[in-house]
Amino acid sequence: MAAFIDKARIFVKAGKGGNGAVSFHREKYVANGGPDGGDGGKGGSVILQVDDNMSTLMDFRYKRKYAAPNGADGSGGRKFGKDGENLVIKVPRGTLVRDAETGEIIKDMSDKEPYVLCKGGRGGWGNQHFATPTRQVPRFAKGGLPGEEHDVVLELKLLADVGLIGFPNVGKSTLLSVVSKAQPKIANYHFTTLFPNLGVVWVDEGVSFVMADIPGIIEGASEGAGLGHDFLRHIDRCRLLVHVVDVSGSEGRDPVEDFDTINEELQQYSPELATRPQIVCANKMDIMEDPENLERLRQHVEAKGFCLFELSAAAHQGTRQLVGKVAETLSTLPPVTVYEPEYVPRPAALDMSAPPEIYRADDGTWIVEGPWLERLMSNTNFSDYESRMWFEKMLETSGLYQRMEEMGIQDGDMVSMYDWEFQYRV
Ligand code: GDP
Ligand code: MG
Repeated sequence: MAAFIDKARIFVKAGKGGNGAVSFHREKYVANGGPDGGDGGKGGSVILQVDDNMSTLMDFRYKRKYAAPNGADGSGGRKFGKDGENLVIKVPRGTLVRDAETGEIIKDMSDKEPYVLCKGGRGGWGNQHFATPTRQVPRFAKGGLPGEEHDVVLELKLLADVGLIGFPNVGKSTLLSVVSKAQPKIANYHFTTLFPNLGVVWVDEGVSFVMADIPGIIEGASEGAGLGHDFLRHIDRCRLLVHVVDVSGSEGRDPVEDFDTINEELQQYSPELATRPQIVCANKMDIMEDPENLERLRQHVEAKGFCLFELSAAAHQGTRQLVGKVAETLSTLPPVTVYEPEYVPRPAALDMSAPPEIYRADDGTWIVEGPWLERLMSNTNFSDYESRMWFEKMLETSGLYQRMEEMGIQDGDMVSMYDWEFQYRV
């Protein structure tokens, strides 16, 4: 079956920062040039961006790993390494990005604003930064920090005001093609719609809404048979459902039964969704064989508090009135749901099995290094006070300072952790 991909798990990784250089200025006849090692470049970030030409997550089916390039190393003559280029990943509008482990929402890609999913690592400082009156020949530079990485699940939940529901072949795609410029596949057999189609319906100056034609819900979908159930997630956010029923009897269907079956499926999938407002359309009026069908449906539907529209989508009859009614109803409903992020990074879970290494440079500086510290620092925003306090706290509780004290660190000693240097205060 040609699959419509609306869920995909991917791994994304930002680039590592380039290393700082150790280099000394050299010129003929000039003795003892100063340190001139340049800084490493910043690693490329991974950025998500909505692309309205995409309507599925198909592109993510085969390509599952995305890595932004690393920053280049610095070099002599105070030359900076080049920054790694950002990697922009395009996603369809309405893509939810979740943490693969917990399922928590990281971001709802519902607008055009680019989103930085993984920040590139900072470049390491070259030795030019480390000259001090007491340390004129700094023979060290800092390594670049690793970029963030993340296993995420992308899940498409279309962003539409109106969702079309109903059995296959009742005329949903036809209706969408008539009221909007969308050109969904229309064919006289079941399961024609494998891809959801979105169309913008223009009502009046400045008034429009987005309508989605999603693959037909079929009987038994709630038990996992066929296509049906997965697709229901695409109407999760719809503010209004337009329920299309075939009243022609041309396929020997009973409109009342069809109507109830679809609603039962909705109910099974999500009781909340089943209470979403509905406008019911009796379609294929032009070839209706038995007016009794229409009347039975009308009574049934109205008894449930819905209104019924007579329609012939193919003949463009009743469609204008329907659009008017939809627009009017929408104006009374709350806006489309945008999901709030739930995910909070938990760097506290960093692997401490290999504690950072501590050693002393020639000039007495305490150098601290190791993957744990690298990760911690790449999660810290040093220009932000809160973030720095958190960093400090993590160091404190890791027992690092205690180890250093056991090793004899004194008040006023210099401590160097990658691109972070400070004086130790007891
Ligand atoms: P969907 O599966 O619900 O999307 O149904 P389609 O829009 O693909 O339509 C299925 C078939 O019904 C196509 O052959 C359409 O031309 C036909 N159809 C749709 N609406 C009408 C209508 O109002 N009158 C008639 N006679 N045929 C229709
Ligand atoms: Mg269709």
